[in-house]
Amino acid sequence: MPTLPTPLLPYGRQHISEADIAAVVDTLRSDFLTQGPRVTEFETRFAAYVGARHAVAVSNGTAALHLCALALGVQPGQRVITTPITFAASANCVRYCGGEVHFADIDPATGLLDLARVRALLEAHPRGHFTGLIPVDFAGLAVDMEAARALADEFGLWIIEDACHAPGGFFVDSQGKPRYCGSGQLADLAIFSFHPVKHIATGEGGMITTNDDALARHLRRLRTHGIEREGTGLLRQDEGGWYMEMQELGYNYRISDILCALGISQLSRADEGLARRRALAATYDAAFAAMGGVEVLAPGQPGHAYHLYVIQVENRRGLYDYLRTQNILAQVHYVPVHRMPYYEKLGWQAGDFPHAEAYYARCLSLPLYPTLTDEEQAFVINCVREFQARG
Ligand SMILES: *Cc1c(COP(=O)(O)O)cnc(C)c1O
Repeated sequence: MPTLPTPLLPYGRQHISEADIAAVVDTLRSDFLTQGPRVTEFETRFAAYVGARHAVAVSNGTAALHLCALALGVQPGQRVITTPITFAASANCVRYCGGEVHFADIDPATGLLDLARVRALLEAHPRGHFTGLIPVDFAGLAVDMEAARALADEFGLWIIEDACHAPGGFFVDSQGKPRYCGSGQLADLAIFSFHPVKHIATGEGGMITTNDDALARHLRRLRTHGIEREGTGLLRQDEGGWYMEMQELGYNYRISDILCALGISQLSRADEGLARRRALAATYDAAFAAMGGVEVLAPGQPGHAYHLYVIQVENRRGLYDYLRTQNILAQVHYVPVHRMPYYEKLGWQAGDFPHAEAYYARCLSLPLYPTLTDEEQAFVINCVREFQARG
């Protein structure tokens, strides 16, 4: 009997290098622990990485979503559309501001929000009924943001792109050009997370990108209590050097210099990690193409950033349990948000979004991260093959 891999093979995990550790230690020896030069540097570098004018670093991806909803003025009674196949935070940010979450079903071929269904939902109501759209680059596959933008413009919606799964990802637009996730050109705002399972890990951390100067400025104020400190932004001038002004109700959603030092170091290896994710995905694609009963979600898409590698099988429960006995910790992404007890209490129920529910019944995310070795991946593939062969 072959030995089992130790430790466990999870679906995703961080990669911390000696350079990462050195960068953090350097910051600990510096004058700044929070809101110092590393925060600004991380923002500048991240903005350049995705091609946006502004990047605003915050304490986590959920805080990023909350601030975006606040900055876009979500209020009680407003209705915002998102996908049921996402992490709950994509929807929760609307609830934080008292807004109503609405869903449209996914396209079963991609796992992404189906824009045709969003259009049908929009057309079924008077203009102004919905105020915003939160598409998610699920698993790392970029939403066609050109089409989403055109639809949003037609119906007067803003867009928050939840790009947590897709730093470095892109879609190819109608002119044949790559358009990067969070580039600020199409969505009003885009958000990223630096949770350890994501491409860039700072432990906790998040980023908002935008090309809108006013929104960027507003987000910076909201992340630190709604307080303005700088000259031109002050409502009362010449109060003195100490003076600061709380102009609206904000939060402490700051990230620290310590974490941004780690983020800068991680970002410098992001392309390497992305290339490794894509190579691993191509190996999985080839193996599963030759295997009966295993369907790959959206294989071979250009620009896919591969946060997750998702397969769909008939006996998902059986495969999940079998992989666990082999020390492989696969995961299910996601329980559809509308099926969460919290959202069911708000009126959603089983049967509302059949494609999302059918996807959920069969999906499984296999281990995929830059430090996964070829050997470990071959072990995962073999285990899936063995289970499928047993029927
Ligand atoms: C991880 C994630 C978030 C939340 O990010 P945190 O940093 O964990 O708060 C939001 N949306 C999606 C799609 C995510 O994967």
